[in-house]
Amino acid sequence: MGIVHILGAGIAGLAAAVRLVKVGRRVEIYEAASHAGGRCRSFFDETVGRVIDNGNHLLLSGNRAAMAYLTEIGSIDTLLVPPRAAFPFVELPTGRRWVVRPSAGPIPWWILNPAARVPDTTPGDYLAAWRLARAGPEARVADCFDTDRPLFKRFWQPLAVAVLNATAEEAAARPLWLIIAETFAKGEAACRPCIARTGLSQSFVDPAVRFLEAAGAGIHFNHRLRAISLSSGRARSLDFGETRVALGADDHAVLALPPARVAELLPGTTVPEDTRAIVNAHFRLDGPTRPPDEVPFLGLVGSVAQWLFVRGNVVSVTVSAADALAEEAPEKIATMLWADISQALELPLKPEPLARIVKEKRATFAQTPEGIARRPGTRTAWANLLLAGDWTDTGLPATIEGAVRSGHAAARVIAGR
Ligand SMILES: Cc1cc2nc3c(=O)[nH]c(=O)nc-3n(C[C@H](O)[C@H](O)[C@H](O)COP(=O)(O)OP(=O)(O)OC[C@H]3O[C@@H](n4cnc5c(N)ncnc54)[C@H](O)[C@@H]3O)c2cc1C
Repeated sequence: MGIVHILGAGIAGLAAAVRLVKVGRRVEIYEAASHAGGRCRSFFDETVGRVIDNGNHLLLSGNRAAMAYLTEIGSIDTLLVPPRAAFPFVELPTGRRWVVRPSAGPIPWWILNPAARVPDTTPGDYLAAWRLARAGPEARVADCFDTDRPLFKRFWQPLAVAVLNATAEEAAARPLWLIIAETFAKGEAACRPCIARTGLSQSFVDPAVRFLEAAGAGIHFNHRLRAISLSSGRARSLDFGETRVALGADDHAVLALPPARVAELLPGTTVPEDTRAIVNAHFRLDGPTRPPDEVPFLGLVGSVAQWLFVRGNVVSVTVSAADALAEEAPEKIATMLWADISQALELPLKPEPLARIVKEKRATFAQTPEGIARRPGTRTAWANLLLAGDWTDTGLPATIEGAVRSGHAAARVIAGR
């Protein structure tokens, strides 16, 4: 059996490596950075004086591939999973607060209870979701709903932005439905919102690296793939500048890299080109605070801040589809977002706490129908070269679940040979 060379130690590359090691394959991983995790990582920040995540990441309990990955690397217990699904919201312009509590089982009984529904909505509003279920590849989320209805503004719009990192007016409908079918449509046990207890690296990255090293996989940091030599339908060698790795007759390479890198390395490969930004702000408070409900996060409607997460004395907010905001100065962003947080958590506006702004300008590819149409599959024109990454054609939104499934798909192809 040959060696599998995995390029990129983000979640897709790590998930592929873990699966392959488990079926007894020899794996070597090469990562350009000095650390693993890619767009899903934690680091120590001097300003807030503690380890923070590059951005808040939420999983749903029905993200079965992500859960399987955490189980395989032995870190499933590091996820905070609430005993019941609950999604609290506050609409800042009106001050209205509500909690969406999906019912047990697939029949959404909760929409029959006015107290459980989103304010000013009727059961009929929810049934309009069938249009999302039947959306074609060209459809955008906003095409499936009456955008003047409160349910659109208070539920579908924030959900689309959070899941697809694009506004409902531009985001493709299909991937949103796929994830809803696997989570919300199965009942509350499949849509419990889960977050990493301590940090993303502690749950998703460090345990995977430890698992892989213990299993004998080589992990080579500071190894940036610069070129691939290709001939007669196969990849022949990997060029890292100072070093070159020749691929043997039974060897494979998995490119778990960003789409722009793959386009450079494999000319003629179609990949999604446009990206969308996510901005996160982390504020250090004097003491611990709590969001008003039983889960450590809160959805914000009608404000710049979209989702707020609390970990001890650090409040972090996420703004997705944030290309315009990402152009602003960090101080200005902090002031705008703190105004929203102080209102949502009923904390004083002044003095403004210390803040760290993290701008991920290429957080995900633009998940529009045009971008989705450019997602390539796992296999390439070169027999021993495979692709993985949240931007490949998983059908799912560009999320941890999609990244893990793309890695598993590449591993399946190789293990099946
Ligand atoms: C701010 C933010 C918030 C998010 N929120 C959520 C969320 O709430 N829920 C959720 O499920 N998902 C969320 N996501 C998406 C999730 O982080 C991604 O889907 C996932 O991390 C993608 O993993 P990947 O392995 O496909 O790609 P990447 O993480 O991009 O991995 C690619 C790796 O390749 C490396 N690399 C690049 N070029 C080279 C080269 N030439 N040679 C070698 N290595 C190279 C990179 O350094 C990187 O480590 C969020 C993302 C961001 C940025």
